[in-house]
Amino acid sequence: AKALGKNRLVRYAPGMAEAAEEEVTLLQDLTAAVRAGQLEVYYQPTIDLADGRTTGYEALLRWQHPQRGLVPPAEFVPLAEASGAILEIGRWVLEQAVGQATVWTAEAGRPIGIAVNLSPRQLADDDVVALVSAVLAASGLPAAQLTLEVTEGVLLRDVDRVAGQLRALRELGVRIAIDDFGTGYASLTYLRRLPADVLKIDRSFVQDLGGDVRSRALVASMIELARNLRLEVVAEGVETSEQHAVLGGLACSHAQGYLFGRPLPAPAHDPAQPAPTGA
Ligand code: C2E
Ligand code: CA
Ligand code: CA
Ligand code: CA
Repeated sequence: AKALGKNRLVRYAPGMAEAAEEEVTLLQDLTAAVRAGQLEVYYQPTIDLADGRTTGYEALLRWQHPQRGLVPPAEFVPLAEASGAILEIGRWVLEQAVGQATVWTAEAGRPIGIAVNLSPRQLADDDVVALVSAVLAASGLPAAQLTLEVTEGVLLRDVDRVAGQLRALRELGVRIAIDDFGTGYASLTYLRRLPADVLKIDRSFVQDLGGDVRSRALVASMIELARNLRLEVVAEGVETSEQHAVLGGLACSHAQGYLFGRPLPAPAHDPAQPAPTGA
């Protein structure tokens, strides 16, 4: 449990010992889960708002726990990140996702993109560039079809080193997306200091697009910012046709969300079919 305590501000409160114990148990289960094949990759489509077509998918990790049922990644990814288990799990996700994109590309007869979330720990790892390069080579997927999603959380590490890793990944031809843009304290610092190709507007801004004029102004500004920096923009978490319409009016190029498709196992998706607008 020592690794879990690292960099954490610890305040004693009733129930804390139980919570810590719970985390340790979950982490032990997770290590076993990888080997027992309880992890699964789900995929959520990204839509080109101009024509409604699926341009690619984001890979999202799922854990089918034998006793607890489906454990959300928000609960176990941070544990895996703290323990280092994310390196092994992340490699597996990357292999699955890139392999699946190769299959979809062949089926659809056009390039299908794949976005994989990369945790700060993975990005800091010495072997990440060689790993990505090897996975692409083994699958035959053109590097331009792979997007690696990072959050500004990577800025909490050695920035020069992170910048070097991101540059090396881009030299492979891979795209870099800034995930959850606008939620942290350093989104603009990220843009100033680190390379990127895609900006993903966080769901929290998209959620209020219907009525809230402030959210609308913020989203409009983020789209404008992306345009000025020559970045592709993806609006996350689009759930309603109203949000869809507002984004269309703001000339947002891409979107993702339950309106277009939920994260599902690969066989449930067919990139050759236009995504339903859901509404
Ligand atoms: P994220 O990368 O920001 O992923 C988007 C999350 O929003 C996903 O949650 C997705 O299911 C959810 N979502 C998508 N559309 C909608 C919508 O219209 N409405 C709402 N309410 N939610 C929507 P999920 O799958 O639970 O993943 C949560 C987070 O866990 C991810 O956030 C990502 O940070 C992390 N994660 C997931 N898979 C991986 C992975 O393979 N590696 C790493 N390092 N992190 C992962
Ligand atoms: Ca993401
Ligand atoms: Ca996100
Ligand atoms: Ca998120």
